[in-house]
Amino acid sequence: MSLKSKLIQYRDASYPIVFIESFEEDKSDKIISEIAASERLSVIEWNGASGACDFKTKEPKGTRKLMLCEMLEILSKDNLERKIIVIKDMNEQLSDYQTVARLKQLALKISSGAIKDCIIVMISPTLTIPRDLEKFITVLEQDYISEKEIEQIITEFAEENDIQVASNLKEQIAIALKGLTEMEINNILSLAVSTDGDITKNSLQFIFEQKQQMIMKSGILEMIPLKESINDIGGLENLKKWLGRKSKVFNNINKAKEFGVNMPKGLLIAGVPGCGKSLSAKATASLFEVPLLRLDMGRLMGKYVGESESNMRSAIRLAEAISPCVLWIDELEKAFAGIGSQNGNEVTTRLFGTFLTWMQEKTSPAFVLATANDITKMPPELLRKGRFDEIFFVDLPNAEERKKIFEVHIGKIPKKYLDNIDIKSLVDKTGGYSGADIESVVKDAVENAFCDDAKTVTTKYIIDAINATKSLSDIMKDDLKKMQDEYEKRQLKKAT
Ligand code: ATP
Repeated sequence: MSLKSKLIQYRDASYPIVFIESFEEDKSDKIISEIAASERLSVIEWNGASGACDFKTKEPKGTRKLMLCEMLEILSKDNLERKIIVIKDMNEQLSDYQTVARLKQLALKISSGAIKDCIIVMISPTLTIPRDLEKFITVLEQDYISEKEIEQIITEFAEENDIQVASNLKEQIAIALKGLTEMEINNILSLAVSTDGDITKNSLQFIFEQKQQMIMKSGILEMIPLKESINDIGGLENLKKWLGRKSKVFNNINKAKEFGVNMPKGLLIAGVPGCGKSLSAKATASLFEVPLLRLDMGRLMGKYVGESESNMRSAIRLAEAISPCVLWIDELEKAFAGIGSQNGNEVTTRLFGTFLTWMQEKTSPAFVLATANDITKMPPELLRKGRFDEIFFVDLPNAEERKKIFEVHIGKIPKKYLDNIDIKSLVDKTGGYSGADIESVVKDAVENAFCDDAKTVTTKYIIDAINATKSLSDIMKDDLKKMQDEYEKRQLKKAT
């Protein structure tokens, strides 16, 4: 249901206060104007810049700028039937108890029917609801712009700036701009034109970088640049095979939908540290040819009532708006630690509930890729069927995998600086080493060879680096055994 229909519905049902969480006041104003015109309602506005003002012109009313509390006092004596009261920039004002009390009084009158056909609409990008108003407020989120609407914005932009954008490029740019507001889209397009003089295929990389910045500023998700490909993963053949099949769906989403294929929900990769879980998350997004968004649960935690849940909903909505995408949740076990236990945190439990429901009901191509070291600490509900499509266990690499991992990392050294390397001897000496250990051994060898003014990196340099490095299994012997036994017991699919 669109934001406009929801607003009409809430007003009809005497919901007293609706909170629209949005940066785009213009867009909300447009919707309110349309409702006011079609339902013959009048609109009163209060905002931080003008105080009480004319809704259309934003011209201040009266000779003095009124505080929100003062305006509410005046309104309480007026006939408010068939009125929409729009309030913006109110966060500061809501820390004043009198303002809150007046709003509460008004809300009570609306919800009890003492004032008919009236609704208060608050608009702000940040949600801070005083506890006293909580039960009167319904939070609505601004609709994200669809791909088709973005294409329309690009068309209008191209006309205004007298440039041509080919229709297939327009489609690609529209996908790249998904999840941004109209204002952000226009800003990026203007910047692209002022940088390149035109909008061409080259602008896509620029658009991607700009979008990355904007998403970072939103503070809810992080867009990770993709440098890794599936060929950068040594071993983990089962996992790669599984991803290869799912990539067929992601690379042909429309066809797959038409065929009746359910959108893959997500994947949990659990297991030993440093063995390629994060690497696999990045390679998955490359393979699926979609953006990678990282969700940091710690960042979602807010200090106000309902703020964390609101952040979680925003993150989910943003991921869905940007989809197709991979939504990566690192250290999943830490994000939802302690759920269900006696001292489990109430907010985390609610966040967990929101996340689970979304995972269960999700049909959008926002593919969740969660990584975890220790799934024994995770709430069992998360591991039940219907959440993740599959759970893979990543163990220390076997000999064949170590060979592949060495090949990947040695392959990064320019050939002219590389001697003939005896990989077999390296593999034999690295039982119990993780992928990260192997990477660091190769890096150390390169650095040592360079500092010695050697012409090439030789097998000896790498063997010396191996001898100087403690393997992961040496460092976490007991914990590793416990982890491996636990995963064995649960009969999880092996990524190898
Ligand atoms: P953690 O649980 O500590 O976050 P992780 O399993 O996510 O670890 P990664 O971050 O994926 O580990 O691995 C660290 C680095 O080790 C990678 O950037 C990569 O260079 C190297 N590496 C690990 N496993 C592999 C592998 N299978 N193939 C190639 N490189 C690997």
